[in-house]
Amino acid sequence: MYNLLYEKWLSVLREDGVYDMIGINDALKEATSLQLAANNPMDRFAAFRFLLTVGYWCYINTEQPPIPGQALPHEWQDWLDKNSQYFELFHDKHRFWQDDNRDRLRPVTDLIHEIPTASNFWHLNHVTDYKDGLCPACCAKGLLRLPIFTTAGGRGIGAGINGTPPFYYIWMGKNLAETIELNWKPEENMGTPAWLLPQSQNESTSLPLLEGLTWTPRKVYLYGPENRGDRCALCGAMAEGLVYSINNDQIKVPDNINWKDPHAIYKKNDAQVNAKMVLMSDKESIFVDMDWYEPVVDLLRYKQHRKEVKIFLLGFTSDKAKFVDVWGKTFTIPTKNPDEDVLYQLHNRLWCINAMRKIPLRGNYRNSVGLTQVADIIPHVENTISSRISDLISGERYNLDDADREYRPLLKKVAASMEANIGILAETSRTKIMYRKPWRKKVKAKFVKEENND
Ligand SMILES: [Zn+2]
Repeated sequence: MYNLLYEKWLSVLREDGVYDMIGINDALKEATSLQLAANNPMDRFAAFRFLLTVGYWCYINTEQPPIPGQALPHEWQDWLDKNSQYFELFHDKHRFWQDDNRDRLRPVTDLIHEIPTASNFWHLNHVTDYKDGLCPACCAKGLLRLPIFTTAGGRGIGAGINGTPPFYYIWMGKNLAETIELNWKPEENMGTPAWLLPQSQNESTSLPLLEGLTWTPRKVYLYGPENRGDRCALCGAMAEGLVYSINNDQIKVPDNINWKDPHAIYKKNDAQVNAKMVLMSDKESIFVDMDWYEPVVDLLRYKQHRKEVKIFLLGFTSDKAKFVDVWGKTFTIPTKNPDEDVLYQLHNRLWCINAMRKIPLRGNYRNSVGLTQVADIIPHVENTISSRISDLISGERYNLDDADREYRPLLKKVAASMEANIGILAETSRTKIMYRKPWRKKVKAKFVKEENND
């Protein structure tokens, strides 16, 4: 037996800085003194979204919403205790978020993006299909990821309800209870979460909130667990038993489904914003940078934000079916109106920094060759700048010129390493490198006109 309400499987960070693993019940009970803290941003997001749907489910059955500044309603715990049978991972009858279907046997590693399957080997983590297994806690985390991060799998096996995973975001509070309260947006028609009942295959085009939040594109059944005395291939824990194989069959997303994810970032025309691979160098992905600028700007422009101003942004990059990279970032967003000029520059920031690493002469940009040494320092400096994003957007205390100057100390080192000679020519060449900065994109007349029409 493995009941997700009581077993220790959710990673949290307590107020006093202590890391812990706890069950759903304790997480909700102690939600004012902890944060979800998985080391993988996918799990941090998926676990939060799951606890939010658990909260919605308790709310429709107890009529108790979360109240700002208070612990989560204790009626929620009573309701969960009464319905604990729905949270059994390996029960004979009802298994949490599984479908007893035996058509497509697959290794359990299908559930986790970052461990290799089949012939995809990593240098540091070799995993063999069916020989390496996952502990129940990691299996549960894998199940939570399915509705949000499933990519298309070849041979007609499709992605999830959001298609290619978009940029996701959540408003962040001081603790889990506040984060749930800030993201609380119940609807008239809530529906039933898919971990409770197999999702309906009805003809209706618009999905109730809880069905959409949990709509899963795979029918999964966990075989086992078996005790072979192994460690979990993901977390390394010695569990009583591991799962080595699963049944993993697809469920096609109906064509007519109408769903707008409450945690995805959309542009004004309802188009989803996806994380892309941004190549800093021609066919190499080593200079891929986190493209956080565009989604943050779209979020500020097209989405009202509530009183709390911190967001957790998650970018997931895939190349067709292949999962490439995932990252999470937390930003503080100012409450006052953002500076439109800064937003425009930030929206085009990738173009600007990519141009910076090329030769400093304008006009020959397309054919120019970038300096790898400059590309190498970009992620580091941009990370420093992103920590001042609130000041930058509000135009107070920090502006784009200050951001440009963040490059100076490291560019000085780059210049010295590239031009070590003595003499006026070397000095001139060093100066040219040292004073590089991201180019500013000229404001296009068309863009300004569009904005004025709003
Ligand atoms: Zn594990």
